[in-house]
Amino acid sequence: MNLRFKALELALERKPVPVNLVSTKISDYFGENVFDKETMRATLSSDIFEQLMQTIEKGSKIEAHVAESVASSMKSWAIAKGATHYTHWFQPLTGATAEKHDSFFEPGGSGRGLERFKGSALVQQEPDASSFPSGGIRNTFEARGYTAWDPTSPAFIMENGSAKTLCIPTVFVAYTGEALDNKTPLLKSLAFIDRAATAVVQDLFDRNVTHVKASLGIEQEYFLIDRAIYKSRPDLVAAGRTVFGHAPAKGQQLDDHYFGSIPTRVHNFMVDFELEAHRLGIPIRTRHNEVAPKQFECAPMFEEANLAVDHNQLLMDLMEKVAERHNFKVLLHEKPFANVNGSGKHNNWSLITSTGRNLLGPSSKAKENLQFLTFFVNTIRAVYEHNGLLRASIASDSNDYRLGANEAPPAIVSAFIGSQMTKVLDELEKNATIEIEKGDNMYMKLGINKIPPILLDNTDRNRTSPFAFTGNKFEFRAVGSSANSATAMTALNTMVGQQLLRFKEEVDQLIAEDEEKKELAIIKVLRRYIQESKAVRFEGNGYSEEWVKEAERRGLPNIKNTPEALDEYLTKKSRDLFAEAGIFTEVELEARHEINLESYIMKVQIESRTMGDLALNHIIPATLRYQHELIEGLNGLKNIGLDHENTVAFETVTDINRHLKVVKTKVHEMIEARKKANKIEDTRERAIMYKDIKETFFPEIRYHVDKLEFLVGDTFWPLAKYREILF
Ligand code: ADP
Ligand code: MG
Repeated sequence: MNLRFKALELALERKPVPVNLVSTKISDYFGENVFDKETMRATLSSDIFEQLMQTIEKGSKIEAHVAESVASSMKSWAIAKGATHYTHWFQPLTGATAEKHDSFFEPGGSGRGLERFKGSALVQQEPDASSFPSGGIRNTFEARGYTAWDPTSPAFIMENGSAKTLCIPTVFVAYTGEALDNKTPLLKSLAFIDRAATAVVQDLFDRNVTHVKASLGIEQEYFLIDRAIYKSRPDLVAAGRTVFGHAPAKGQQLDDHYFGSIPTRVHNFMVDFELEAHRLGIPIRTRHNEVAPKQFECAPMFEEANLAVDHNQLLMDLMEKVAERHNFKVLLHEKPFANVNGSGKHNNWSLITSTGRNLLGPSSKAKENLQFLTFFVNTIRAVYEHNGLLRASIASDSNDYRLGANEAPPAIVSAFIGSQMTKVLDELEKNATIEIEKGDNMYMKLGINKIPPILLDNTDRNRTSPFAFTGNKFEFRAVGSSANSATAMTALNTMVGQQLLRFKEEVDQLIAEDEEKKELAIIKVLRRYIQESKAVRFEGNGYSEEWVKEAERRGLPNIKNTPEALDEYLTKKSRDLFAEAGIFTEVELEARHEINLESYIMKVQIESRTMGDLALNHIIPATLRYQHELIEGLNGLKNIGLDHENTVAFETVTDINRHLKVVKTKVHEMIEARKKANKIEDTRERAIMYKDIKETFFPEIRYHVDKLEFLVGDTFWPLAKYREILF
């Protein structure tokens, strides 16, 4: 029996795996595995606690004796919880997260040894990390890097069976100072936008604000399929997606999955994984079915952006672990099944002041609305200005399958703001002659106290927009489901930060030059921004053909593949942006570019090999077996003197042969094309070659294999079919 049928049998017999609920009250166990603020307050001396809070809130440097105390408390807490090891948990440039485990235990010279954890091990540690990608940084400069604790993200205990490990969120930096991870630039971009937004708010609106934090809520979409069926598909195992598969008779046309109830097996998985997430302090709140069959989504309550990214990375890890217990496999790939809805990671982003005001939330007060409009318009202006960079920030081999495909954001980054806000901006823009009036009348004239404070419930939703205003936040939906959100958020924070600084300069200048009233100066600049950034605003159907043409007329980039999208990181505009903001040096930008291209090439290469292997070693032999059976039947007909040529069997044998020939020829041509590509020295050129391989060979080979799936007798087919995986 082939693997497909064994897997199907196993999957059919599955029973829901029961969940051990510790308590029905989440508050009983929420955050119990986190060395959070409350735990710190309880375990540290008040003096040390205060100093640590300074570091966390203001980013001040951590003193050695503070680190020593924190390390000691952290160790005691972790050991009391059963942890034996600790690890510096970080986010390398490829892959999700990385860890290197060290034991607390240190064998002593004479006695039995001790459990130790020094401050220096907390704040700084040299990992044996020469295998992490550095895009040449470590070859040219220094061969070692260090990890250092990020005190703004609390340590936590990860359980793996009975093994417990204290995980310390860290940054990963080369000894020469270049960042080798995703967290370092994110933290820099958050400090940058804090600085820029605080300057704008303090100077123009509210003196009491001391800092501004970016908030982020990441909705995560994923597929959940049976583990045995997953294991029976070598393409899912190797590439995370199915490279073949005939569309099922029943697709997602009926939407019955979306509105249906969650099956018990899946429900138990969700309950279990939420339980684990809650113990780690991840505030998951909603769970529901998604559009495609076997597709689901979970969303946490938003948090400070750095924490939100860490939690999302942790969540992805956790999902996979818990899924295993429930005999499931989580697919985080953006497009695991052709012609079926893909998965994204919706990044809900906003800015919140130290006084608790959401800068992207309209208010009932006219003055606050001017502040809101300032941040609203500047964000759109930034997305317009650095449109290509935002596109580049979400580029990956897997996301290329999703962007522009069925039920997914197109590769064009436009902003949707809804009819309400469109009206407000139109009014602001066209109300050309402003008579200066005192007090609230001025705001009235400008129409900005007419914005309803709660846009949330009546904002029109446009699910086809990649960057949508949803009442009190922007939702960046084009981020891929498998991506680390840090990349997209670093780009967004940086471009909006720079835009805010420009804005402030312009307003200051107007005030100085014309002795203009502050409010009027603000309006004047905003008005110009509204005009300048119009091309990026689009309210219609983002999935339509017309939009693609319209966007082209507007001069918006529509880059459908990663190697070309990534060019945007190296334009003068982007280099200047990152340098000015102090996020990336030239060396870092180039290194990252190189790593992204290399990782793209590697992924396409794996897919291409998987495709070739499946075709030659699975599809062709199975098809030949079926064909052989048909031929034997035809021989039988011939032997008893019947017309064998005028039969379905005869036609099928010929049809099969035609498809088989194309498959074999194309696989061999693809192998040759790969060989040629591998000889290319220049990484970008090589990536483009791989892109061509992906675009020309993959669809053609797939077309013929899928035809064969349709022709070959079901019992002969070696791969689990879409209907078996998805229904
Ligand atoms: P939906 O978009 O599905 O209607 P919600 O409006 O509840 O769902 O929000 C989706 C996500 O946006 C959640 O993770 C939520 O916490 C987050 N969110 C809500 N307000 C903000 C905000 N001010 N900043 C960042 N994220 C937010
Ligand atoms: Mg959403």
